[in-house]
Amino acid sequence: MQKTLVIDLDRCIGCKSCEVACKLENGVALGNYWNRVHTIGPKGDYPDLQMHFLPVVCQQCSQPECVKVCPTGASYISEDHIVLIDKAKCIGCRYCIMACPYEARTYHEEMKVVEKCTLCVHLQAVGEQPACVKNCPGKARFFGDLDDPESDAAKALRQAGSDSVHAMPDVGNHPTARYIMHRKTAIWRES
Ligand code: SF4
Ligand code: SF4
Repeated sequence: MQKTLVIDLDRCIGCKSCEVACKLENGVALGNYWNRVHTIGPKGDYPDLQMHFLPVVCQQCSQPECVKVCPTGASYISEDHIVLIDKAKCIGCRYCIMACPYEARTYHEEMKVVEKCTLCVHLQAVGEQPACVKNCPGKARFFGDLDDPESDAAKALRQAGSDSVHAMPDVGNHPTARYIMHRKTAIWRES
């Protein structure tokens, strides 16, 4: 089992509803983000300019460096392969923040612990989708088990076709989140 997010950049309008929904649902501190929407571009030469939006969230890596470097076992991988943090075990050393290549973790100044996207495990427990998925007006976000061909995430990838499926650069941590972007929207660039 590998639960993760698939984000369709052809459909993302950069409205940041996912940022807001994530912060409200999870009580993310002022100035911190578990999910952040970046603007890529404009790139290219006029008049052939390209621009798109790129929501960045924990990539649910299958070999996560953040877990490997955690000295207390606070960062761990759940049975359905979601990377989580046991805040009771977190000593706030922030090794994991340095180890994450995608800046997916944040430090909570008052609680003195590190936090990140949990794929809204508390909503999954009551049969709901993560808040960012539920509240995306562009229907650009899909959640599910990549090993289940009937999951929303797997179906979205199948429908997009492999040429239009992209991932963040893999530096040995094997990110599992996927981005859909067809050539008509923009060229996927790894940096
Ligand atoms: Fe893009 Fe959906 Fe996030 Fe809006 S809510 S920025 S459309 S992913
Ligand atoms: Fe860990 Fe960062 Fe990968 Fe998420 S994206 S699993 S925080 S290394």
